[in-house]
Amino acid sequence: MELLKQRILTDGRCLGGGILKVDSFLNHQIDPKLMESIGREFVCRFGDVRVDKVLTVEASGIAPALMVASLLGVDLLFAKKKQPSTIEAPLSARITSFTKGCECDMCVSGNFLKQGERVLFIDDFLANGSVALGILDIVSQAGAEVVGMGFVVEKSFQSGAALLAERGVRVESLARIASLDNCQILFAE
Ligand code: 5GP
Repeated sequence: MELLKQRILTDGRCLGGGILKVDSFLNHQIDPKLMESIGREFVCRFGDVRVDKVLTVEASGIAPALMVASLLGVDLLFAKKKQPSTIEAPLSARITSFTKGCECDMCVSGNFLKQGERVLFIDDFLANGSVALGILDIVSQAGAEVVGMGFVVEKSFQSGAALLAERGVRVESLARIASLDNCQILFAE
């Protein structure tokens, strides 16, 4: 997605350790017009798939995922990274946070993820795939099905994309980054 790639080049910063900082439009401050374009692009790319629910993970996945859910006219469910004591019928998976370097139990309430539902997962970044694999686990615990996964930014030099391909998951990434070496942003195509 050219508009997104240009914005990454203009406003993105490499933090070292393979981390891209895009907090002026995605991870802290949010550009609603860009989110709308991102939502439309995902809806176009997954146009051939029937979706019952959009799923994401807090916090930065919520903005793009909400746009997609709104355009598709379905509910958005977001996984929590800390299990609230009040959650009913919890479904959870242990994940490793790429940016924080710690482990946590990501969870959703089984009240909102039903057997047979067709789920589209949308997130801000795909890195080593810990969150995405956790989502596959949680959705399968519910007896639901992941029909696709969409990422605003895929860091193709990390292992997540290959892990999802091995599992036969359909992935659509709007900007694919081949390298952040020497703090240079290099796109895969
Ligand atoms: P994974 O589970 O694929 O290793 O990492 C995905 C999660 O880590 C995303 O939900 C995102 O929040 C965070 N993440 C991974 N890489 C980056 C990055 O380069 N920049 C930012 N801002 N977040 C990242």
